[in-house]
Amino acid sequence: MKTMTCRQLSGPCDLAHTGTTADDVINAQDKHLKETVKAGDHTHVAAREDMKGRWRKPWAALGWYRDMKKAFADLPENPA
Ligand SMILES: [Zn+2]
Repeated sequence: MKTMTCRQLSGPCDLAHTGTTADDVINAQDKHLKETVKAGDHTHVAAREDMKGRWRKPWAALGWYRDMKKAFADLPENPA
C-alpha cells in the first residue's frame, strides 16, 4: 500500500488516499472531489472540473495519468 495526498493528485488539500495501485488513489481522489464539492467546499471545484474533463477526454489527459502513475510508482511502500 502507498499513500498519495489530494495535493499530490492536483487537488488543494492534504487528505491522504491509500491504495495498492495508482488507479486506486486516482479513484479515491475522484470520489473525494465529488464529495467535497457536493458538501459545498469551493476549494475543490477547480480540481473537480479538471478531473471531470479528464474522464471526458481521456486521450487529452494521458500525460496527467502518466505523471500520477510515475509519482505513485516512485513512492515508498507504507510501513506495515
Ligand atoms: Zn482535497
